[in-house]
Amino acid sequence: MSVFDESDRPADRFDSARRTVIQHKDGGTCPQCADGTCRQQAWAIEELSQHPGGLLLLQQLELINPSTKPTEEGQPR
Ligand SMILES: [Zn+2]
Repeated sequence: MSVFDESDRPADRFDSARRTVIQHKDGGTCPQCADGTCRQQAWAIEELSQHPGGLLLLQQLELINPSTKPTEEGQPR
């Protein structure tokens, strides 16, 4: 149960997040999955969205809208 050791190294967190979304990509699940929601997947997406490389990956996996710009806010639509 220690896949997610607390790590201070961003690279480790990024790598963990990357593995998580890739694991879920092919309809896969993880121990945290439950009824269509997965907090680990949610964490991974949030984590990746904070990095340019992660954003690119999310777009490639179609986990986020390609036109979504997290740094841009305040736009109604
Ligand atoms: Zn999961």
